[in-house]
Formats: sequence, structure tokens, C-alpha cells
Amino acid sequence: MIRFEQVGKRYPNGHMGLDGVSFHIRRGEMVFITGHSGAGKSTLLKLIMCMERPSSGQVHIGGQDLRDLGSNDIPYLRRQIGVVFQNHQLLFDRTVFDNVALPLVINGTPTDEVGRRVRAALDKVGLLNKEKSYPIALSGGEQQRIGIARAVVHKPALLLADEPTGNLDPSLSAEIMALFEDFNRVGVTVMIASHDLPLIAQLDHRMLTLDQGQLVTDGEQA
Ligand code: ADP
Ligand code: ADP
Repeated sequence: MIRFEQVGKRYPNGHMGLDGVSFHIRRGEMVFITGHSGAGKSTLLKLIMCMERPSSGQVHIGGQDLRDLGSNDIPYLRRQIGVVFQNHQLLFDRTVFDNVALPLVINGTPTDEVGRRVRAALDKVGLLNKEKSYPIALSGGEQQRIGIARAVVHKPALLLADEPTGNLDPSLSAEIMALFEDFNRVGVTVMIASHDLPLIAQLDHRMLTLDQGQLVTDGEQA
């Protein structure tokens, strides 16, 4: 599903975001990417989403070499990916329903289908009763669940998350990780960047460790 071959990313200011990174993630896997701040975790996720382009090496997503994607193909690629951010990036002047519906509205999904899908997504994150609320009225953990509902509302094959528990306490963080495991269990490939080692050590998934842009370990946890 995701293949990196000797991928390097040098930013215009000379910083190396990634340096000679190779790995392969199969469809249906759940993988953590860890490493200190500045290790290259966000860079790796941005390359998958085509928000950045590699300076060297190759990135393949679903068998497609991203070098062959033109700017017209990128929206199509992104439709197959759901993304969860640390600060969830919800719109505070829109209801929960409208926030979650946004990706569907953008790609022109018919209105009755939007309603059905938004409710299915809210149901999966346990917040069906909040559809008319505004994000400001929700707790931090609930806001992050809404961010996850929005990321999965179009049923992407791949779910990416960048420090999704960065602002949450340990018990809420564990609940959020359990939610990602639920999506993984129904076949979604999940990649989560996190530096919360105590949390991810409790979970039994493959872990890629980056250090200064290099992949230093890739393995199942003990
Ligand atoms: P992480 O997500 O692990 O904290 P990043 O991928 O954000 O790491 O950063 C990796 C390296 O690339 C760091 O040295 C960072 O300063 C640099 N970097 C990230 N984004 C940019 C950018 N847009 N311009 C220049 N340097 C960047
Ligand atoms: P429908 O297929 O009628 O749209 P659902 O949206 O409830 O119904 O999804 C049907 C099944 O697909 C559920 O079991 C759901 O958990 C699973 N599923 C597969 N991929 C995803 C995804 N990316 N996000 C959410 N659910 C998914």
C-alpha cells in the first residue's frame, strides 16, 4: 500500500527532513512512526499526501509512483486518504454535522448520502448525539473524535494521523488509539505519528523509529 525507496527530502533552507528512508507497509497494517521532535515524522506523512515532494528516491501509494501524479491527480489521491491532526482543525463557526460533512460536500456527494455517511461516521466515534452541537461546546477528547469522524467520513483506505493525542491526557489518549484500532480492524490501513512512547508501548503494532531524518528501527514491538 505504501512503499518508500531511499526517500530523501531536503527543504529549500537546506534542512534534511528525511534521508534515505525505505520501508513497505502492507494494506491493512497499523503502524506507529515515532522519534523526537524534528526527526521527520510530519515530513514522512506530508510526502504520502503529496503536500511535499521528495528530493530523491521514490514514494509509491497503492502501486502508483507519486512522481507520475500531476496536480490534477492529487485530489483523487487525497480522496483515498483520511488525515487527523493534533489540533483537529475543526471550524468553530460550523456545527459538528457540518464539520464532518465537509470532505463529502467538497467532492460533491449527494445530500441524502451526506446525511447517511455523516451519521455513520459520528456513530463510529460514539458522538451521534452531538451532531447539532458546535465544537466549542465539546471537550478536547470529543473534538478529536469529531476530527477522526471527519477523516473517515469518505471511507478512505488509508488513515494518517499526526500526533493525534498531543493535547490529551493519558486516558483520553488511550481511547483515541482504541478508536484507530477499531478502524484498522475493519481493514483500514493506519499510520500514526506519535512521540508518546509510553502510550504506544502498550499497543502491539509495528513501529518505525526516525532519528534526524533516518529510519533507525523498523519492527514489531517486543
Ligand atoms: P517531526 O514531525 O518528527 O517533528 P518534521 O518532519 O516536522 O519532524 O521535521 C524534520 C526536519 O525538517 C526538522 O529539521 C525540521 O526543522 C525540518 N523541516 C520541517 N518542515 C520544514 C519546512 N517547511 N522548511 C524547512 N525545514 C523544515
Ligand atoms: P455503508 O457501506 O452503507 O456506507 P458504513 O459507512 O456504516 O455503511 O460502512 C460499512 C462498513 O465499512 C462498516 O463496517 C465500517 O466499519 C466499514 N469501513 C470500512 N472502511 C471504513 C472507513 N475508512 N471508515 C469507516 N468505516 C469503514
